[in-house]
Amino acid sequence: MKKEKFELCPFCNCKDIFINSENVDMEYREGYWGECNNCGARGGFADNESAEGSRYAIEEAIKKWNTRPTEEQLRTNLAFFTTPVGSK
Ligand SMILES: [Zn+2]
Repeated sequence: MKKEKFELCPFCNCKDIFINSENVDMEYREGYWGECNNCGARGGFADNESAEGSRYAIEEAIKKWNTRPTEEQLRTNLAFFTTPVGSK
């Protein structure tokens, strides 16, 4: 399996992120999520529909870990909330 690229942990800035998993049922169904090896923060959960779907579920879990609001969006939101009413 190729080495996946994770964004830094948003809580502790650590880059030691790995995919953790657990069985969801008694068969093939498993849940996956990105997890920080330093502070234990967890990303979004993705589970496989089938044994063949595991690879996609892992990719989904990586995507969920790596999803961040863009800095620009954050600035827009901040401006909205810090602009006094009626000042425009
Ligand atoms: Zn962390």
